[in-house]
Amino acid sequence: MKYISTRNKAAAVSSAQAIAQGISREGGLFVPETLPRFSLAEIEDMVQASYQDRACLILSRFLTDFSSEEIRACVDGAYGEVSQPSDKFGGNPAPIAKLCPDTYMLELWHGPTCAFKDMALQLLPRLMAASVSKVMAGKEICILTATSGDTGKAALEGFRDVPGTRIMVFYPQHGVSEMQKLQMVSQEGGNVSVCAVEGNFDDAQTGVKSLFTDPALRERLAGKGMAFSSANSINWGRLVPQIVYYFSVYCDLLADGEISLGETVNVTVPTGNFGNILAAYYAREMGLPVHRLICASNRNNVLTDFIQTGIYNKKRPFHATTSPSMDILVSSNLERLLFALGGGDDGLVSKLMESLNQDGEYQVPPGVKERLDECFSACWCDDQQAAGEICRLFEEFSYLCDPHTAVASFACRRYREETGDTTKNVVVSTASPYKFPSSVLNAVTGEKLQALSAQEEFALASRLEQLSGMPQPQPLLRLREKPVRFTGSCTKGQMEEAVSVFLGL
Ligand SMILES: *Cc1c(COP(=O)(O)O)cnc(C)c1O
Repeated sequence: MKYISTRNKAAAVSSAQAIAQGISREGGLFVPETLPRFSLAEIEDMVQASYQDRACLILSRFLTDFSSEEIRACVDGAYGEVSQPSDKFGGNPAPIAKLCPDTYMLELWHGPTCAFKDMALQLLPRLMAASVSKVMAGKEICILTATSGDTGKAALEGFRDVPGTRIMVFYPQHGVSEMQKLQMVSQEGGNVSVCAVEGNFDDAQTGVKSLFTDPALRERLAGKGMAFSSANSINWGRLVPQIVYYFSVYCDLLADGEISLGETVNVTVPTGNFGNILAAYYAREMGLPVHRLICASNRNNVLTDFIQTGIYNKKRPFHATTSPSMDILVSSNLERLLFALGGGDDGLVSKLMESLNQDGEYQVPPGVKERLDECFSACWCDDQQAAGEICRLFEEFSYLCDPHTAVASFACRRYREETGDTTKNVVVSTASPYKFPSSVLNAVTGEKLQALSAQEEFALASRLEQLSGMPQPQPLLRLREKPVRFTGSCTKGQMEEAVSVFLGL
């Protein structure tokens, strides 16, 4: 299978090239030329299979230039071998919690960093190392990432000790929570580095971008047999692992007798960069019986407006919310949906992206809007409504969820009320509630607590554990004893020096 760019269909590359390269040269995103289809019989065949086996089967249809042994090695490395369950995800990496007869929580946070980014970032580094050995043999890949919190830690954990790779993460000194900071500065692994940047997320982000595009640095790197790459969600290698869990949850619902073969389900996804819900859309296009995709947003509701009106307008205030991983005004993966809904019209996508850049907005043509309406619905809620939802789920079902998941649960309920659609619904749960102990505790108790240090956050997490009886995840508990490894900080201007020292340039 070939991969083409959303802005230039003529640029066709192999999957290894698409993953190693990350983004197409003219700025477009790589997408598969066609989507593989799965019949109901093929889905039924997967019901008895493990998550790992389902992943191998689905990945093999997309990564046709990988051998089945290569795919198996990547999948086992990411999720653990079935015979020998890994301590990374426990048993099933994507278990279901049944909330009530027609609502299921798909819990994607049982990985090493307790957020759903692990589902993709445990696999991407392995796919990338294999891709590089195919198309840039011998090169060492250096991942540079600026993070506002969750992605940096998940990327560090994913690339840790993966042969042929190194990773350096920059975080804004005062822009991440104490817990997130501690997760990063205590990172283990022989190929990792973490550095604070004096400034905000934008400073770290623009700093990394200028390192990527610095020709002199690139040359010094090449001289050492290295090349830069990035781990963010525009890489196809981060998207394809996410398709797997939609097939997997359907198979598990079949296995549990909750649905019958061919019965459609709705899926509600808490959305930021549009990666997760796009994977659900691809699964639907591949033959998975999904009725509607419900896009859930927080107060940064640019996607709700887009899905309802067909107009994307990023010219609006940015709100810092209790679901920070969804605080995004430009959802980069939406470009892939536009390409699909536009029937593969690369000219249209280029035009829309140009007007987003120049005017801060665009409107899709009527045909695209019609196809959007056929499968997408959207809803948003504010912090108070999300807190109310956390409290409701806890009181009614003794189920504790994090603020991102609460936004989705709220959207699912609102959608049902507004449409009367009684289709069974899978709500995607994207983080452990213990990643956000103060927000969750506030929601459940009605108190106004704020944790100012990691120690205070640990104390709140313990209170939450006593209150709920739900055990804290091991990786967050272990954090209390972990030594700090990275204390370095630098200004934006010193980032190049920090990279040079780390890579020995
Ligand atoms: C990244 C993230 C999201 C948003 O996912 P996208 O794929 O960017 O839409 C939602 N919840 C959590 C906890 C996340 O970390």
